[in-house]
Amino acid sequence: MLGGERAPALYCRAVGDGEGARMLVGMIAAALAVFLAVAAPAAARGALSPTEQAYADWLDATYAVSTLSAGAVAKIDGRDRTAWGASLTERAAVLKAGLDRAARRKLHGEAARALRRMQKAFADPPAAPVTTTTEEAGARCETAPDAGLDRAALSAALYGCFERFGNHIAFEGRTIARAPALELLGELDTAERRKALFDALTPLWRRIDADGAPGSPYRRLIRLAADEAHAKGSSPITDAARTVGASPGQVETWLVAALETWRDANPGPALEPWDYRSHYASAVRPLDRLIPPERITALSFRYYRDLGLDLEAAHAIHDLGVRPGKAPLAYADFIRIGRETPAGWRPALARVSGNVEKGGLSALNEIVHEDGHVAHMLAVRARSAFFELGDDLFVEAFADVTSWAVADPRWQRRYLGASVDEATAKRALFANVMLDVAWGLFEQRMLRDPKADPNAVWTEITSRYLNIRPHPEVSWWALRVQLVDAPGYMINYGLGAVVTADLRRRLREEAGDFDAGNPRWYRYASDHLLRFGGSVETPKLLRRFLGRPVSDAALLAEIAGIGR
Ligand SMILES: [Zn+2]
Repeated sequence: MLGGERAPALYCRAVGDGEGARMLVGMIAAALAVFLAVAAPAAARGALSPTEQAYADWLDATYAVSTLSAGAVAKIDGRDRTAWGASLTERAAVLKAGLDRAARRKLHGEAARALRRMQKAFADPPAAPVTTTTEEAGARCETAPDAGLDRAALSAALYGCFERFGNHIAFEGRTIARAPALELLGELDTAERRKALFDALTPLWRRIDADGAPGSPYRRLIRLAADEAHAKGSSPITDAARTVGASPGQVETWLVAALETWRDANPGPALEPWDYRSHYASAVRPLDRLIPPERITALSFRYYRDLGLDLEAAHAIHDLGVRPGKAPLAYADFIRIGRETPAGWRPALARVSGNVEKGGLSALNEIVHEDGHVAHMLAVRARSAFFELGDDLFVEAFADVTSWAVADPRWQRRYLGASVDEATAKRALFANVMLDVAWGLFEQRMLRDPKADPNAVWTEITSRYLNIRPHPEVSWWALRVQLVDAPGYMINYGLGAVVTADLRRRLREEAGDFDAGNPRWYRYASDHLLRFGGSVETPKLLRRFLGRPVSDAALLAEIAGIGR
């Protein structure tokens, strides 16, 4: 892994790691190794300048090393981790020399932009989420109370706590990981058992927020993150606002409006935090038994095939098995980038890493989301300097365009052969989306006022809008790795919901309904939204695609529809 602990890659939902039976779903590693050996040209020439060529080669080595480090496959292009590591060092040196030479030339327009993109990526290389052993994670977590840690070291320590404590939750005589634990909260039959599981998360919360005093690790981290944002003049919040062409104040107004609409659509007595998930999820439980873990890849691939994209033919890798030391969250990443070669376009290769221990609707939703990232990766046709997906907010929002479909009864009937009624299905989906919105608002408020008490901020949001009973004595907001790994990142899911709903509406208008398949969908989305990569700035791209500024009207209409 390069570039330290920060993992700006492609995060997803609540997810975890455990030590259940090993299971590799959809692994086609051997086939891939053969494919790569045959199909990968040693070097692409085409129209790229030598520096851009060096950049593409360096990116490929970077992704090869992170793929091999993650254990997704044993070899790429016939070479193992050590060989790719050596290659990466060489390619980095070649690229550095090229970038230095280019920097001495006077470049203008697109050439100057291309150079800046390459310099930026080289300074902060793409890195997949960190893989550590439980012992290493535990040792790192032990350092969290050290008041002298800087922002990166403190993040790394707390990330370690999520692996060591978040992924080893003692419950009813066994140890479970965080993602299955959160799903289990939606399934357990009695409030007593749900409360016991909720309480079993206390060791994690105590590591992240200690006693909740101003010197707690998280409270130090959020102050350091706010200082960093102040010094840089930007934060994930301001970046996300820029992507949608709004001010941070406008963003907050949207988040609050979504939460208020949800509250109005879901009246009833207040819920305990350990009952929130089961309250909304229990009615979709009958579908879970139709989605065993070994079926998830096939279901997702089939849906994308019906949308016009054959992920199997594209050699997408699903590494969904649970094994010790695996990154504690689900993500998608490149194995290599796509690029122009003398023989034509050489497609990107991509992989999904997850910890799918149990099946069920929410696990499926998560993997369809990750495959949404893969679909995006495969669609980019930009020159190498601009070979990227775009702003984080857009990337996360686009992946939900398809994952929200699994909450549609038409999708359920077609792919599962059974469905629940629409309001029930949508309520289960949006109960999770609203937690993301709440976390987005939480981080926005914490970064604005880093001296605030996080328990008080979280209690205010969840009791006012999610109808959850106040428990300010518990740091139960500390359930997402992103909160400590990349403070502010949750805005990409919270505000992302606004963008997802807006993109879904526009795609429906232009390409037709796609929640139960539509063979035109992928082509349309590729041509109008995905193919540009970094060659078109995301704010401009969104405005052009929508034909107007981003609006929260589509999301509010969806949420309000649940209550009717
Ligand atoms: Zn994602």
